[in-house]
Amino acid sequence: MPRMKISVIDIIPVRLPLREPFVIAYGVYPDVQSVLVRIRTDDGAEGWGEATPDPNVTGETWEGVTATLRHHLAPALLGHDARHRERALLALDARVEGAPAAKAALDIALHDLVARAAGIPLWQLLGGKARETLTISRVISMGEPEAMATAARRHIAAGFRTVKVKVGNPDNPLLDAKRVMAVREAVGPEIAIKVDVNQGWRTPGVAIGAIRAMADARPAYIEQPVVWWDMEGLAEVRRQTGAIVMIDEGCHGPRDMLRAVSLRAADLVNIKLMKCGGILQALKLNAIAEAAGISAQVGTMVESAVASAAGLHAAIAMANVRTVEMGGPLMLANDIGDTVNWYQQDTITVPERPGLGIEVDIARVRHFSDDWWEVGA
Ligand SMILES: [Mg+2]
Repeated sequence: MPRMKISVIDIIPVRLPLREPFVIAYGVYPDVQSVLVRIRTDDGAEGWGEATPDPNVTGETWEGVTATLRHHLAPALLGHDARHRERALLALDARVEGAPAAKAALDIALHDLVARAAGIPLWQLLGGKARETLTISRVISMGEPEAMATAARRHIAAGFRTVKVKVGNPDNPLLDAKRVMAVREAVGPEIAIKVDVNQGWRTPGVAIGAIRAMADARPAYIEQPVVWWDMEGLAEVRRQTGAIVMIDEGCHGPRDMLRAVSLRAADLVNIKLMKCGGILQALKLNAIAEAAGISAQVGTMVESAVASAAGLHAAIAMANVRTVEMGGPLMLANDIGDTVNWYQQDTITVPERPGLGIEVDIARVRHFSDDWWEVGA
């Protein structure tokens, strides 16, 4: 492949409606606010990326990501050779510290572009397929115990073998225990129940009490029970309860992973492209986890077809990744790509098509877009 000079970058903020509002410990979301990017090179190649910031996790807003991409990151990338992804992305770090979701969008677009130009699926550009298919669990929004039990029954009837329950009430952790117990009663003894607290219990004392109160429901693991910055607290919860602990909001990139390993704070890690800054960073983070015997999950901010596809390609290329939670395509009322066709009940097959392997529906992008800028045009 000869030189591929980055000539134009499209920045497109979009708002995509969800089938039903998504409720977790720190927020209620009626729709997905994300920013699509398209990188084009002077030889006619193109690649798509997506930023789905979560202000509570990445510290970025939808409007902020749009402005950061438009005024700083996209201009910093113009003129670079798209083939040299590591070097191109270093130029972004030199321009803006942090901004992981904004950087992830460009990282994903570069990967899509290079794999498409080479005529190979993105997973092949990474490590090849570490397994043939991926398994996904359905997420149940935080609500009344009976409503959560009903949602769990519906997911099991639809063929899912694992459910993920959203809890996290610091004033009433016993209600959280009731939620998990109600779901256990609804799904029977065989189904795995993951419990995601989204930092909701805040402190180790509350978390330890809540985990003990729900022990009879046998959660598969407890995800991020304490506030994100308290990694020592996470280690304490793990030691005191013997629960299998997953770190999520507390682990953004490779440096956090290294610290979690040294504090023995987690058994599992939830890797999200939006937290770590894209695929290259996810590979680095995963290598540290794998070396420490910590298995990974690839998770999502509830993203559209583009970032979901990127997460699935990365996940299937890493042997250390056991599960994925790329539920976005299943939760959107209208998506801008066809990633949902990769899902067959709880099993996902990542296609052989070049790049991300999706067709972005430009008419739909236009319909759901708030604006559209072409940097470099
Ligand atoms: Mg989580």
